[in-house]
Amino acid sequence: MGVLDNNRHLEDTDKKYIWHPFTQMQEWQQETPVVIAEGQDCFIKDIYGRWYLDGVSSLWVNIFGHRKKEIDDAIMEQLGRIAHSTMLGLSNVPAIQLAERLAGIIQKSFEALPPGPPQGKEGGDPLLLTPHIPLTKVFYSDNGSTAVEVALKMAFQYWRHKGVSGKNSFLSLNNAYHGDTLGAVSVGGVEIFHKAFGPLLFKTFKAPSPYCYRCESGEERATCGLACIKEMEATLRDHHDEIAALIIEPLVQAAGGMIVAPQGYLGEVRRLCNKYNVLLIADEVATGFGRTGKMFACEHEAVVPDIICLSKGITGGYMPLAVTLASEQIYTAFLGEFRELKTFFHGHSYTGNPLACAAALACLDIFEREETLKNLLPSIDILEKRLLDICDLPHVGDVRSKGLMAGIELVKDKKTKEAYAWEDKLGWKVAHCARENGVFIRPLGNVIVLMPPLSISIENLEQMLSVIKGAIISATS
Ligand SMILES: *Cc1c(COP(=O)(O)O)cnc(C)c1O
Repeated sequence: MGVLDNNRHLEDTDKKYIWHPFTQMQEWQQETPVVIAEGQDCFIKDIYGRWYLDGVSSLWVNIFGHRKKEIDDAIMEQLGRIAHSTMLGLSNVPAIQLAERLAGIIQKSFEALPPGPPQGKEGGDPLLLTPHIPLTKVFYSDNGSTAVEVALKMAFQYWRHKGVSGKNSFLSLNNAYHGDTLGAVSVGGVEIFHKAFGPLLFKTFKAPSPYCYRCESGEERATCGLACIKEMEATLRDHHDEIAALIIEPLVQAAGGMIVAPQGYLGEVRRLCNKYNVLLIADEVATGFGRTGKMFACEHEAVVPDIICLSKGITGGYMPLAVTLASEQIYTAFLGEFRELKTFFHGHSYTGNPLACAAALACLDIFEREETLKNLLPSIDILEKRLLDICDLPHVGDVRSKGLMAGIELVKDKKTKEAYAWEDKLGWKVAHCARENGVFIRPLGNVIVLMPPLSISIENLEQMLSVIKGAIISATS
């Protein structure tokens, strides 16, 4: 079989056997799929030898580019020892080393923060939260959704173990995305993805999305006084006895449309959680590991969560791995005699996978050695400048970014903010056009998502932004 025949065969076989995620397969059947065969740095290459800039970091996971030598080597070295062994009843070397490193990095990231707000009432009520106790307990799983499931179950059971009943629900945000498993969908708020599963979900309380461009209360940012926080507080005031935890994507609601919360918002959320004695779960699956310009998004507002969920960037985009880090206080509540059944009954087959942990350790080394966060600053600067320029285009309603994650919201009418209809597929048209010019991106409805690897060079970043700008112009004119 010649190379071309072989390529056609691969394409046909994909269509014959693969059901792709978040994909209308009827359309997929009519198109020629791009099949990736290789990657190098910020680029991916298809089976025909065409290179594309990986503008979505292989769906938000890649940090240092593809074929990063140190990560390749770390995985290979670990492979020479053992690929996998269970964490149920056993431990393994890289999982231990990574847990220590993560707890240390969290400690370091958060210790520089000013002391938090006073802890509710005086007198040392043992049930009151002390969120400045560091997050030291690492629970492994293998993807962002499971990291969230773990966090929800931990938070729920924490109160049970503390002898508090009634806290059987959660507070989550409109436009939130915490993954696709049913618990994660229950705390989700993206209509198009989540509505169909409504009858299967547990009940949650909802707070407004801090979506200033389309404010749910119809306010303007300059004068709103954070109306969304007031609404959140009203729900907490009325229902805190029923709420185990508030779960939030700190600073950026990513899959909901790259919605960047206004400054001060997250700090207020923490304050409310303290005031109403509700645990705060920070889902940093998308924002963690430098994406927002700091190691963790919570650092921007000096917020320490009670539980933090990490995945995506943790292995530099190499291996499926996730962690749910809990505070000492939560962990301690699960301690007891064997017969008391306080054990946390949860765990996955590939939990704490040694290859993945080895990759994650290599990433943390690179963060230090290459001073990734410091070197990110010029790229963030360029991105912000170019976005302002793109914002002048006639069909761009809003641009928003934090660090190296950004969204460009396309609108049919800039004055009225009228959106393009879902079926107009404007985001897809832009993505298609960008792909023809060598940049791979994947939109969220009418929002163009920019999420290049953190290691992208200034030159490649400029190139990516200019292709995307051109694609927006040609798709909207
Ligand atoms: C992607 C994402 C998840 C889900 O992670 P998966 O690995 O896809 O299961 C959860 N939370 C946030 C904020 C995410 O962006």
